[in-house]
Amino acid sequence: MPIAVQDELNVYESAEARFETAAAKLGLEQGLYYYMKYPEREVTVYIPVSLDTGGIAVFTGYRVVHSTVRGPSKGGIRFAPNVSLDEVRALAAWMTWKCAVVNIPFGGAKGGVICDPAKLSKSELERVTRRYTASLSDFLGPERDIPAPDIGTNDQIMAWVMDTYSMHVRQATTAVVTGKPLDLGGSLGRKEATGRGLMICCNKAVAKLGMKREGCRVIIQGFGNVGSEASLLMHQAGYKIVAAADVNGGLYNERGIDAAKLYDWVHGQQRSLPEFPGGEKLTAREILFRPCDILVPAATENQITSENAHRVDCRILCEGANGPTTAYADPIIEKKGIFVIPDILGNAGGVTVSYLEWVQDRQGFFWREREVNEHLEEVMEHSFDEVVRYAETHRVGNRIAAYIVAIDRVARALKLRGFYA
Ligand code: NAD
Repeated sequence: MPIAVQDELNVYESAEARFETAAAKLGLEQGLYYYMKYPEREVTVYIPVSLDTGGIAVFTGYRVVHSTVRGPSKGGIRFAPNVSLDEVRALAAWMTWKCAVVNIPFGGAKGGVICDPAKLSKSELERVTRRYTASLSDFLGPERDIPAPDIGTNDQIMAWVMDTYSMHVRQATTAVVTGKPLDLGGSLGRKEATGRGLMICCNKAVAKLGMKREGCRVIIQGFGNVGSEASLLMHQAGYKIVAAADVNGGLYNERGIDAAKLYDWVHGQQRSLPEFPGGEKLTAREILFRPCDILVPAATENQITSENAHRVDCRILCEGANGPTTAYADPIIEKKGIFVIPDILGNAGGVTVSYLEWVQDRQGFFWREREVNEHLEEVMEHSFDEVVRYAETHRVGNRIAAYIVAIDRVARALKLRGFYA
């Protein structure tokens, strides 16, 4: 059990615990350990925004750059009421390790604003986004720090980020942000990329464990960008989606749910997920404990904890969300013999296609969707193989193997660069 964790539900402590375990196994020298442990920069901004009702509200925003050792920092912006500096710190570090696991030339960062986007009008949301971007404009840039969407943000918000930054630097700069609309330098395949990356990892795991894809029972928690795209793609590929959930609740049907119809129900018709006909209603938490072959937590952090990990009943745990499993839950999951596809590998399809979007913006030449998907598949398959090979050769779990592959890559870049004094 990791000693470093005082508060199991503090995601920063959970992230640190894994880093420390991996760094110790790697024999990372002390100077490098401290350099990689702490972020390079943490910025807090207070954003005054005029409300539609006439008053002014001041929102708190953060941007943490964990590392620029391997390239400009990359990481999403989260708009949610429970955003905290510790959460943004953890997410920024995970971005460093994620980019390094899949070997794309970025460091890691993350941003967040404490707000509830559901309670803001579209114009208030635009003003929050623009003022947040303006406050950070000295730090952002295609060669510096490149945001993307995360929980509570979307392609429209990325378009406002791009426009605000471009107005400040007096030139149109599409490559300053990824996850943009297709009409504004976005990439084909980006919307589906994280879900597709998850499916590619599941395909590899299923083959490795000698299982059959057809009829393989899948449970997906979260039906936003990651969860709904993963459900749709996996349904189309022959997997059987037996349960799905969003913040409103869950739905279970052991005979399988038509994920294409559910996708249309939620995103097309804007109806509530648990009201979808043909399934047993459950809470979003309960679906995690129904028996299945593949469990995909793709909603939010701290879903699988030391309190409930013993109830997880799957062969493969494929993490779509960042940090869905706490560090205390790791040994329980490992003891059950569950094959873990850790978040920094499983959900790396999103940042991989963000990288491809950035490349296309910078070269001013855009690829067909097939080409984007081929690149993604190659990156994900290769990274999966590297992590699993390391885990098997060094007799560590897949999660620690992924951290070690990543930390080692950052350490090598750091040694080559040396320390500028
Ligand atoms: P999103 O805002 O599009 O969707 C989040 C989904 O989770 C929604 O369906 C929401 O209803 C549901 N949800 C929220 N709280 C819940 C709860 N307590 N129980 C059940 N469902 C709940 O966000 P997203 O972009 O899909 O991101 C989901 C997760 O994936 C986050 O952890 C995010 O950091 C991670 N992630 C996203 C991307 C990406 O490309 N969008 C890439 C890598 C990782």
